[in-house]
Amino acid sequence: MTLVVKDLGRSPGSMRTLEEHTAAPKDFGVALIGVQQGSDMELDLKLEAVHEGILVSGTVSVDVTGECGRCLDPIAYDLDVKVQELFYYEDAELLEEEEQDEQRRVERDLIDLEPALRDAVVTALPFQPVCREDCQGLCPECGIRLEEDPGHHHEVVDPRWAALVGLAGTAADEAPKSKESDEREES
Ligand SMILES: [Zn+2]
Ligand SMILES: [Zn+2]
Repeated sequence: MTLVVKDLGRSPGSMRTLEEHTAAPKDFGVALIGVQQGSDMELDLKLEAVHEGILVSGTVSVDVTGECGRCLDPIAYDLDVKVQELFYYEDAELLEEEEQDEQRRVERDLIDLEPALRDAVVTALPFQPVCREDCQGLCPECGIRLEEDPGHHHEVVDPRWAALVGLAGTAADEAPKSKESDEREES
């Protein structure tokens, strides 16, 4: 996704549009959700020469797929992401030394759109994707879909009490037994 921008020269105001379909590169996503590599990605961008560099703005449209973080159901939807990114000319002076690493650059009349588009798309993805806002998810005990079984619950004993119950049970079971019977069971 490298573009030659030599044609824009260095005259602020010159611009052109970029409208094309392309195959999504890899890693346009996060753990549970993202854009499948190779899926159709539509670019509708404007490239504009400004004083400090080339301003790229517009929209990138992608197909997002993933799974619900609560119930693991598949999720799929279209997403239009606004993009606005300034690629500085190589000799453009930056005010802050530390900003230089973060700034995107025009390098030898080329700009690499991919990292800028990746950032824009990944930022627009939900941090915790859900199939629906009110998805109730799965029961952590047995995995049943909670909305299919309203009121579903398990008798859960507090683990601290469970330990005591276990101890009491063991003591009661062993009390009537003699040492001999214990040995017989073991052999
Ligand atoms: Zn869900
Ligand atoms: Zn359950």
